[in-house]
Amino acid sequence: MYKINDGCPNCGACKSVCPVGAIKFDGKTFISSDCIDCGICVRSCPVKLIVSEDDNKAAKTEVKKTAKKEE
Ligand code: SF4
Ligand code: SF4
Repeated sequence: MYKINDGCPNCGACKSVCPVGAIKFDGKTFISSDCIDCGICVRSCPVKLIVSEDDNKAAKTEVKKTAKKEE
């Protein structure tokens, strides 16, 4: 599952590359449930705001682990 992080200037680049039209605009750009997790849009974003939610979770877990080690 992919998501768009905050700060997207709605440039539309990702929208034009999505093969299944899963990226929509409704006041802001968002990835709908039609997403098939192909990952193509990630590379299209000039400001690198599209991230895999799994990566996000992994990153957060890593931060927690690091924080624990420092206790
Ligand atoms: S991961 Fe693929 S299917 Fe999902 S929004 Fe991006 S380009 Fe579209
Ligand atoms: S390519 Fe990046 S900046 Fe442009 S609309 Fe998509 S998420 Fe937003």
